[in-house]
Amino acid sequence: MSSHTNELGAPIVVIMGPPGSGKGTQGDLLEHSGVLKKVSTGDILRSHVKRGTDLGKKVSAIIDAGKFVSDEILAELVECELNSLAMTPVLLDGYPRNEKQAKNFGQSKAFSRLTKVIFLSVSKDFLVKRLLGRLVCSSCGATFHLKSFPPKVNGICDVCSGGLVSRNDDTREIVERRLTVYENETEPLLNYYNKLGLLETVDGRSDPKEVYTEIMSKINKITKNHRSTG
Ligand code: AMP
Repeated sequence: MSSHTNELGAPIVVIMGPPGSGKGTQGDLLEHSGVLKKVSTGDILRSHVKRGTDLGKKVSAIIDAGKFVSDEILAELVECELNSLAMTPVLLDGYPRNEKQAKNFGQSKAFSRLTKVIFLSVSKDFLVKRLLGRLVCSSCGATFHLKSFPPKVNGICDVCSGGLVSRNDDTREIVERRLTVYENETEPLLNYYNKLGLLETVDGRSDPKEVYTEIMSKINKITKNHRSTG
């Protein structure tokens, strides 16, 4: 992974898209391929909740309600994580999610490493269906779907044989709220990153493997650019 680094550090690719657009699935596929390490703010926060840390206790109810954790907590969490991965190409999933977070990120040391923003485009109707059937492994976090991507054995994770559960925030009411929050707070950032010339749009409705191939083609370009300029 460190072969892509230049004097600024290894590249960071941000993956953006509404809840349920497949960011987590694509992050897992990209991480397994060894191209990028996934840093998901949602996964990090859920792991704090699961371990019962002070931070976990603070954010548990906020996450379950589909609301945003504070910008200050996120800024510290992300900065710490990205700085510890200075030489590792990273796929950043779930951050930034509003204007203030984009500003904080823009002022951070890691921002010079931001090379691309991949936007997974999926319509709202599609997302609601997808989120309401989502199953997540309680051990390793792998995601499945009741209809479109079922596990081989009902309720059991294909990857680690852990138990599959629905996320507490994947109920209809909370899904609707998360989508509205996304539209109001996160979607405007697409325009900002587009103006910076960083945005690439990928159709997130396709089969996960096709989406992965399309993202890979864009990431390969980044890798090549880094090799030639690094
Ligand atoms: P996700 O797995 O990305 O859908 O994130 C799950 C939940 O974690 C969100 O609904 C928020 O409550 C919280 N969260 C994750 N990332 C952020 C962020 N950048 N800003 C605020 N809250 C976040």
